[in-house]
Amino acid sequence: MPAPRDAVSTPLLRFAPSPNGRLHLGHAYSALLNDATARRLGGRCLLRIEDIDPVRSRLELIAAIEDDLGWLGLAYERPVRRQSEHMSVYRAALDPLIARGLAYPCFCSRGTIQARVAQTRAEGAAIACDPDGAPLYPGSCRILSGEEAAALRAQGAPHTWRLDMACALDEAPGPYAFRCFEPDGSETDVPADPSRWGDVVIARRDVPTSYHLSVVLDDDAQGISHVVRGADLLAATDLHVLLQRLLGLRSPAYHHHRLIMAEDGEKLAKSRGSETLGDLRAGGINAAEIRAKLGF
Ligand code: GLU
Repeated sequence: MPAPRDAVSTPLLRFAPSPNGRLHLGHAYSALLNDATARRLGGRCLLRIEDIDPVRSRLELIAAIEDDLGWLGLAYERPVRRQSEHMSVYRAALDPLIARGLAYPCFCSRGTIQARVAQTRAEGAAIACDPDGAPLYPGSCRILSGEEAAALRAQGAPHTWRLDMACALDEAPGPYAFRCFEPDGSETDVPADPSRWGDVVIARRDVPTSYHLSVVLDDDAQGISHVVRGADLLAATDLHVLLQRLLGLRSPAYHHHRLIMAEDGEKLAKSRGSETLGDLRAGGINAAEIRAKLGF
């Protein structure tokens, strides 16, 4: 069951964009809904910049995000937490998971994994996919001996760290659930199945963390009580509750909101070249029109 939250504290929410592109309408909806929910609950909403990606995160994009949010009429408390400034915190959470035998180094490149998956399929075996549709990691590096892994690390071989899902679930058996809340204030417990993510990457090659690890650590460190985010992250919550249990962290209540789609019915995404708030602003639309378009 979800860990109990402190019933007397003020509700605390966060809007947590990743600065690897300009905000689009979907972000605006999420930011506005976080703000409206915080007001309705009599709480506050923080801004958190999820800039763990050293290649794609750019300072000018952080400035543009803050500028777009201000233009929308949203103001946030200072200082704004930036994940890139807390790598030592993530490292300090990752190391004990490794020491407990719950994470192992993975030296596979994306190409190696694809080839292994293709070969397994060619041999007629099925490979399950994670909730995002990616094949589950086939486990090649899970079976490396401690000596083999240590030798590769000593040679400086690049590696991620993967959660050993079977060991994690052995150490912290379910059942798992998380608390979901609706705009009308009703709450329900939703069952979670972390095993559908398999041996997921919890620390990337270049930084001692991943989206999943940082998000649960930061939500706890900041005392976030209510998470409002897009429905595309609903399935990830199954994994987040497992990480929270393994790390002894609090579990917020979650609301996963509808996604704002592009006119062609596809998901808005930086990678698809979707119109950004910057483009809309340059086209002459004003903030009140954006708010009205999104129902605020
Ligand atoms: N940084 C994530 C994103 O921009 C959101 C994470 C979250 O709300 O949990 O998609």
